Amino acid sequence: MGNIGIFANTTHIIVTLTAFFLLFLSCFYTEKGTPVRRGIWFLFLGLLLDLVVVAIEYQSFNVYKAGSEVEIYVFFELLLLLGSMVFLAVAASQILLKNIPDLPVILGVAGLGLISVVSYVFIFPDGNMVSSLRYVFPIAGFAYLSVGFLSQVTQRYKSGYILASVVTAAISLLMILKLSHIGWAVDSAELWYSSALFYVLLAVAILIIKINALSTKYDIQEEEVKKSNRRLADIIKSSPFPIILSKLNDDKIIMANTNAVKLFGILPQEVDRYRLKDFFVDVDNRRLLNERLEKEKEVQDFEILVKTPSGDTPFWLLASVNIIDYNYDVVLYSAFQDITSRKNREMLLKNQAIRDPLTSLYNRRYFEEEVFNRIVDAKTNNEKYCVLMLDADHFKRVNDTYGHKVGDKVLIELAYTCEKNLREDDIVARYGGEEFVVFLPHTTPKQAEIVAERLRESIAAAVVYSDEGEEVRFTVSIGISSSEISDNVGMLIKTSDEALYRAKQTGRNRCCIFRPEDFENMGAEDEAARKENQNHHPIFDKEDAREISLLDGIDSSRIQEDNVEIEEKKKKPEKMNILGVDDEDL
Ligand code: GH3
Ligand code: MG
Ligand code: MG
Repeated sequence: MGNIGIFANTTHIIVTLTAFFLLFLSCFYTEKGTPVRRGIWFLFLGLLLDLVVVAIEYQSFNVYKAGSEVEIYVFFELLLLLGSMVFLAVAASQILLKNIPDLPVILGVAGLGLISVVSYVFIFPDGNMVSSLRYVFPIAGFAYLSVGFLSQVTQRYKSGYILASVVTAAISLLMILKLSHIGWAVDSAELWYSSALFYVLLAVAILIIKINALSTKYDIQEEEVKKSNRRLADIIKSSPFPIILSKLNDDKIIMANTNAVKLFGILPQEVDRYRLKDFFVDVDNRRLLNERLEKEKEVQDFEILVKTPSGDTPFWLLASVNIIDYNYDVVLYSAFQDITSRKNREMLLKNQAIRDPLTSLYNRRYFEEEVFNRIVDAKTNNEKYCVLMLDADHFKRVNDTYGHKVGDKVLIELAYTCEKNLREDDIVARYGGEEFVVFLPHTTPKQAEIVAERLRESIAAAVVYSDEGEEVRFTVSIGISSSEISDNVGMLIKTSDEALYRAKQTGRNRCCIFRPEDFENMGAEDEAARKENQNHHPIFDKEDAREISLLDGIDSSRIQEDNVEIEEKKKKPEKMNILGVDDEDL
């Protein structure tokens, strides 16, 4: 293909080498990622050898002009030309969709070529044949290459292959013309620029092949994404669980299956109007989910309380959320399970553990634990608080006169009256049988006396009816203790009970407050009885203590242990008692 006109002057050489360098860059850039990549470097090597052949040809021409022997030059020239043909053929073989004819055929042809070269240069020297071989080898190489590129036009993007095929075919044709000594093609030295032009056109063709390959790759990727989207959509649609896909960045819902649409009470055509967070009742719950997702990329069995846009009763869901790629976007894949009934059962059990079944008030254990915490808060904020202990007066008589059922009714009414007359953050609990306790936060002893008096009056005004329709009225006595007495729950109960005892002693249906000076009177009481009372709440000594205990579901002997437990939990010494008096000494 080359022609010695390249070496006629420096400009020709520079132009040719520049074009060749462009071809190199093009090959270098294209080497990876195209279907013809394995052929590219063979093509480049073939052309490099061809360029070297032209240099040798030019040299032998000069030697010949000087009248010296040129056989050896001609031999190497033809040998390299043959090598160039082999490289071009291997390149074509690699580029061809099916690699035929393969290496053995190429080597066979090359062997025949070698025999011809040796024969026509050394054994039967023939100038015409030598000059013919100069064209035959490249014609074979480029024609084969042209077929190779042509075989690739079945690709989706084919412009690069067509150009490469046309350019290599044109070079073959040009040489066939030269070989046939037809027209202007004979004057080869005039056509020095054909090499440079060929290199540039081939470089462009190879670059286009690269671009085509990228486009094909992108198309394939796009199809893969579409396919995986369709697959995911099918899975989501057929899932028995409610599933939602939402964008990670703006939380917008992009897909919801029929079960999800039903669960969240939205219309299928309006799915994209909502964001996932619209369904969360609690924003903190949503934030926590996001935080866990950020850390762990997936969250399993996360409990969320959700609501529908129509504002129905919120309900509980168990969510499993994953971050996945969907349609070039990062999205949340959330699968849900309705656990409302399970949650309700849990709540019921929890309530059963902390509430008294008869009156639905809190039980003693809850009261003691909760008041312990409230006292800690109150002390931190330097707030006052009080405890009331209520005991139904002559309740045994009510039972004896009207029966146990009416007695129960009285207890329920008593509980209801207490709750009705107290504030939201007061704690009312059934402490045992017919005894109730109340914790009044932010309350001074004076205020507690007013509250207790109001409560006593309300209870005295309440009425229940026996089965026979008789009016049953009842009263309570109330003992009051306060943060001025102690910051220990056990001690507050003990002292309020002491005050209650006094209220009973002084006629019942009244309120009595335990004041700091009453500690002295406590000490003056009968030593044996006092000692007994110190560790036992009076209620447990009553004949029906067992029954009361069962009602609460709590072992009565644990009151002291509980106090100790709570105390230990806070690692607070008994000396924290506001008076600085140890319980044992009282
Ligand atoms: P006092 O004024 O001194 O408190 O007299 P009282 O009769 O109220 O006191 P006592 O301790 O002698 O009697 C309490 C009674 O409360 C005895 C017990 O049968 C009754 N009682 C305890 N728990 C229940 C309950 O759940 N339902 C009913 N109906 N009665 C209960
Ligand atoms: Mg009692
Ligand atoms: Mg009583």
